Amino acid sequence: MAHPKRRHSRSRKGKRRAHDALKIPTFAYCSNCGTPKIPHRACPVCGFYKDRQVIEGEEEI
Ligand SMILES: [Zn+2]
Repeated sequence: MAHPKRRHSRSRKGKRRAHDALKIPTFAYCSNCGTPKIPHRACPVCGFYKDRQVIEGEEEI
């Protein structure tokens, strides 16, 4: 099996892990009903996207 020839230094390990932190999930509020939703996705509650209904059968105007 492939095997590293030399161990990586503490500083090199730290530099690699500098990008490993978890990020807080991003969200936006629906402009129609105000529910927190995933950005660039239709609202799961009212089915609105870009101020217009895009999913059928959910809360007609
Ligand atoms: Zn909504």
